[in-house]
Amino acid sequence: VKIAKRTGKVEIYRNGVLKEAQRRFSIESRLRDALAHGGLTLAYQPLIHLQTGEITGFEALARWDDPELGHVSPVEFVPVAEESGLITPLGRWAAYEAAQALSRWDAKFGQALPVGVNVNLSPIQMARDDVASMFEEALRYSGIGGHRLTAELTESAIIADPDKARKLLFALKDLQMPIAMDDFGTGFSNLASLHSLPIDILKIDRSFVSNMLEDHDKAVIVRTILSLAESLNLRVTAEGIETQELADMLQKMGCWQGQGYYFARPMSEADAFDYWRVRWNFETI
Ligand code: C2E
Ligand code: MG
Ligand code: MG
Ligand code: MG
Repeated sequence: VKIAKRTGKVEIYRNGVLKEAQRRFSIESRLRDALAHGGLTLAYQPLIHLQTGEITGFEALARWDDPELGHVSPVEFVPVAEESGLITPLGRWAAYEAAQALSRWDAKFGQALPVGVNVNLSPIQMARDDVASMFEEALRYSGIGGHRLTAELTESAIIADPDKARKLLFALKDLQMPIAMDDFGTGFSNLASLHSLPIDILKIDRSFVSNMLEDHDKAVIVRTILSLAESLNLRVTAEGIETQELADMLQKMGCWQGQGYYFARPMSEADAFDYWRVRWNFETI
């Protein structure tokens, strides 16, 4: 009986591994197809100036609805893209698409919108691709000023290859692009690098923000990041603001910018433009 039970477990384990490998394989091949045929879109989530309530910009987030697989989250397909090399075309597509969205919004509005778009960079993409040239070309192609395209990168990208990261960040500054550290607090930051690299913004990870009202330790971490940022002259964005209480609290703590479901979920390019235009009219009347 014991042996039968064990083999049963092994069977289940094997099936699990096999299913996972099959899923990974179909995501890779469908994603390759989606990248070749325009199957991905970007969703835009508003970034809100906490002291004034103004919309300062949007974070561009990749979205994929596949005819065979249905909706697949970037939490699942970005790692597959990183393992398979597809992160290079995916990253290039996202940068071009974000710059093009800005230029389409400008055209609709008849002048440049006073908002920017944040583009996520993967550490693997940064290691493999010439990200500075990619942004330079995307900006030139779209006729967008570099100050309107923020690069979001993670601490792991800097740890992986500090020299390469340094060169890239300074090249992005030459393009006037702001630079944000995403998921800040979750990695093992070399605090010295915050000081010596041209980083403009810290994005406090959602895992610290979401429950900081209930969890005193989280609130202490957020406070510490805010004071660190102040002494280093960095701006701070809080991710994952889901309630008004959180928005109020972070505003009182002096946090610069907020992002989260309380303000708005990620939305289509057209909806994001309307979201901005309605509030812009309201604010300027
Ligand atoms: P991220 O860059 O940290 O993006 C923020 C994530 O938090 C997004 O998830 C967003 O939808 C979600 N979020 C925003 N506000 C809230 C909130 O109030 N509550 C909760 N629970 N979640 C909130 P999403 O769109 O699923 O993206 C997940 C991750 O996938 C991103 O995390 C980013 O690391 C990666 N990703 C997405 N698009 C791209 C892309 O174009 N390129 C690369 N390299 N990575 C991407
Ligand atoms: Mg991000
Ligand atoms: Mg983030
Ligand atoms: Mg995050």
